[in-house]
Amino acid sequence: MTESELLGDVPDGLLIAGEWVAASGGGTLAVHDPSTGAVIKQIADATPDDAKAAMDAAADAFAGWAATPARERAELLRRAFDLLQQRKEDFALLMTLEMGKPLAEARGEVAYGGEFLRWFSEEATHIAGRYGPNPEGTGRMIVTQHPVGPCYLITPWNFPLAMATRKIAPALAAGCTVVVKPAALTPLTTLYFAKLLHDAGLPAGVVNVLTTSASGPVSEVIIDDPRLRKLSFTGSTSVGQTLLRQAAQGVLRTSMELGGNAPFVVFDDADLDKAVDGAIAAKFRNIGQACTAANRFIVESSVAEEFAHRVTERVAAFKTGRGTEEGVTIGPLIDDRAVAKASELVTDAVERGATVRTGGHAIDRPGTFYAATVLSDVQAGSAILREEIFGPVLAIVTFDTEDEAVRIANDTEYGLVSYVYTQDLARGQRMIERLETGMMGLNVGVVSNAAAPFGGWKLSGLGREGGAEGIHEYLQTKYTLTPNP
Ligand code: NAD
Repeated sequence: MTESELLGDVPDGLLIAGEWVAASGGGTLAVHDPSTGAVIKQIADATPDDAKAAMDAAADAFAGWAATPARERAELLRRAFDLLQQRKEDFALLMTLEMGKPLAEARGEVAYGGEFLRWFSEEATHIAGRYGPNPEGTGRMIVTQHPVGPCYLITPWNFPLAMATRKIAPALAAGCTVVVKPAALTPLTTLYFAKLLHDAGLPAGVVNVLTTSASGPVSEVIIDDPRLRKLSFTGSTSVGQTLLRQAAQGVLRTSMELGGNAPFVVFDDADLDKAVDGAIAAKFRNIGQACTAANRFIVESSVAEEFAHRVTERVAAFKTGRGTEEGVTIGPLIDDRAVAKASELVTDAVERGATVRTGGHAIDRPGTFYAATVLSDVQAGSAILREEIFGPVLAIVTFDTEDEAVRIANDTEYGLVSYVYTQDLARGQRMIERLETGMMGLNVGVVSNAAAPFGGWKLSGLGREGGAEGIHEYLQTKYTLTPNP
């Protein structure tokens, strides 16, 4: 499909009880292409009344979906996986248009996001209980698993497909119904995916989609509804904290995938070629706009100059442009705020003594571009070491001992992912034990996998998405005692 055919094929309404409907207030919101600033589509802008209707639909559909045999739920997800493979080019292009990532990376996200459909289609049929005598021998204990109920899923803009499938697939596999609220900056992929789910045979009301510029008021209606049983959120830690406070009222089950400040530690015994490859992947994938992006490169002094030199050579050769152009590796940032944030962090680091090896400035052209940047000699106390950069800026600090590397790596309120490069097995094992992190790449720069438990420690969140753990976020346990037969 051409860009305009594709955009025309994306629904522009809210999905409520299986119908695509206009917002009750008649309002629309504009979706932009961040590489040009142009409006690419107008879609419905949901109101709190629409939120109530979506919640009603999810609550009404729950009993039927929960009672649907696991095999049928699994087959629905598998059909969705197959359809996504057929439409992968359309989904990739749509993400590039609304979010800006290079097309090759968007194709990678379709592959990664699709795996959650396949993984959870398989997990659905493995939901199991247990039965056995209690230790006293006075009765039989039965433990069963049940879907938690209607769920509210809030996703961010940076991975429009994968963040949706990572929540929707386990919810549906477990027998839950959902209301999904994608980010207002990139809602089209979720709308298109919901259409795909219906093409795959999803019953009405099982998935409902609200697109809105009024996230707070719309979300409050749903979170305050006593029929809601679960809130799953991916986004910033500050919004996650607000949502946790709101969720306390209904004692909701919550999953929180929040911010990160990933350390990328390079020891002097690392294979430097591999460390440089890993660094480029861990930093510049998604134009640096990933919660798993390496934020602080912590490099042993004796190899720091060589590492800085090699990454700078690679980064200076990047091609910046619209993600649809051949060979582009750096697309636009999502909006002006993101460019301003990168600029502020770089300015602060330079004022405190960092050296700009390449980049270090916004790019003067339509759209919201910031040059791929390498900073060396970043000094302790620089804001860039504390805050999530969410942009294409690679910041290098140095260390001299393993203890110092561990101290710097753990010196953050976050704990989502850490990367370590060393060829010393014992040192690698010590780092696994000492780093405060929910995930770790040991001589690897990208760790995400649908079969793995994704999630963080400390302010990076609660719960896990993917893996065997992922489906349990949407199940609740019941224990029954019966007399001996
Ligand atoms: P954000 O917190 O601004 O927004 C995330 C979502 O929450 C969006 O859908 C937004 O519309 C919605 N939202 C905002 N305020 C809300 C409110 N008061 N009530 C209900 N919903 C509200 O984050 P973002 O800028 O979209 O995404 C970037 C952040 O997400 C980064 O911090 C990044 O680390 C994090 N992230 C984390 C993971 C992870 O798995 N840990 C993955 C991707 C992104």
